[in-house]
Amino acid sequence: MYTWKDYVGYDRLPHIWCSGCGNGIIFNALGQALEKMQLPLEKVVIVSGSGCFAKIVNYPGVNTVKMLHGRVLSGATGIAMANPELTVFALMGDGDGTTIGGNHLIHAARRNINVTAILGNNYNYGMTGGQYSGTTPEGSITATSRYGLVEDGFDACKLVEAAGASYVARTTAYDVLELQKMIIEATEKPGFAFIDVLAACPTHYGRLNKMGTPAEQMLKIKEGTVPVAKAAKMSPEELKGKLLTGKLVDRNDREDYAVLYAKMAKEARGE
Ligand code: SF4
Repeated sequence: MYTWKDYVGYDRLPHIWCSGCGNGIIFNALGQALEKMQLPLEKVVIVSGSGCFAKIVNYPGVNTVKMLHGRVLSGATGIAMANPELTVFALMGDGDGTTIGGNHLIHAARRNINVTAILGNNYNYGMTGGQYSGTTPEGSITATSRYGLVEDGFDACKLVEAAGASYVARTTAYDVLELQKMIIEATEKPGFAFIDVLAACPTHYGRLNKMGTPAEQMLKIKEGTVPVAKAAKMSPEELKGKLLTGKLVDRNDREDYAVLYAKMAKEARGE
């Protein structure tokens, strides 16, 4: 029987993240979800890239692989294809996952390879000083938009849904129990599964945008979201500027790439 401590590598803590950072909350939720699923340690792989959230690979008691910046999914999908018996997690910040690695995200979802991707989305490149990323909301003050961001950030869930992912969900680091539930659902779903977790970076994004204490920042992030069931009863005006949370996509009409590939190879060989 494994505990969450076995999965997160408890003896390697403390971690390096700033006080109030959402990364530790997401990491703990992953450990709790893995404890509930009781996956063998040697069958779990966590892949990350660069940035604050990517430091997650320094700790776990499971297999870890660190890729170059933006290349998390090229590593994760390769591992999942090479050994379909493994449970592969791709942990990416918004810079790593949707900006520098945005093209990998589109094609991993399109190919529907059996990986669970978790986006720690704090609207900036935290490790390099708080530059804006592809998800940073319009008007935000960041290290590279001192007068306010001219562009608007995109909705990562809509992008991944359009590309063909089997499972897409969004929550916040405030809603840890919902996050744990989503991690379990996404892991058990064959094909590409994606969870967008809106989280606080109090050191850069929160400070520059005067969002208050880390707890106040978490609340503000939550207030910027609407559960999908509630959104169905709201007008487009009421939903302006809000992001939907909950399970957004759960489709069964596409098989996992590795399963399809094995079938086609068998047929081609006449087996
Ligand atoms: S800089 Fe931001 S994202 Fe990085 S550890 Fe600190 S609070 Fe977290």
